[in-house]
Amino acid sequence: MRDHAYWLERLKKWGVLREGHFLLTSGRHSNRFLLFAPAFSLPPAAEELGQAIAEQFQGQGIETVVGPAMGGVLLAHEVARALGVRSIYAEKDGERMALRRGFSLRPGERVLVVEDAVSTGGSVQKVLDICHEAGAAVQGVGIIADRTGGSVDLGVPLKALLTIEVPSYAPPDCPLCREGRPLERPKA
Ligand SMILES: [Zn+2]
Repeated sequence: MRDHAYWLERLKKWGVLREGHFLLTSGRHSNRFLLFAPAFSLPPAAEELGQAIAEQFQGQGIETVVGPAMGGVLLAHEVARALGVRSIYAEKDGERMALRRGFSLRPGERVLVVEDAVSTGGSVQKVLDICHEAGAAVQGVGIIADRTGGSVDLGVPLKALLTIEVPSYAPPDCPLCREGRPLERPKA
């Protein structure tokens, strides 16, 4: 059964979830670091993730899958392939996101938004803004890893393959520093 434990194991195997002592871009320290690109460099891994998310939204008449660039591009493609529908992506446009490259959404279009992980929900919310402005009928948000502990409310159903907590510490309070473990600065 593909439950939380299954996905945790897969993400470790694919090199997505690393454990150690990491310096985050915020300056805080953590014992975990998540980077999804390694999974998407393996087509069978990308396919499995796409199929698993697609299964959660099967039978909802999804017409188009939308993901934010870069993290959501390949995932949207794989989910759309599994559903047999169209895949598009949104790109940064200043503080917002926009559809470019001839992509558009029509009023009433049944859309699924996907992203690798949500922590604050920021980039997913920006994609939702585009969908709502176009009058699309958003059926939900599908993500691989929910880092919010289920606390984010996007106003549409959100389904995640697993929940991952990434604890972080101010350097003076970091238990890993106290243990004298070498600090890694992961390249994202
Ligand atoms: Zn530390």
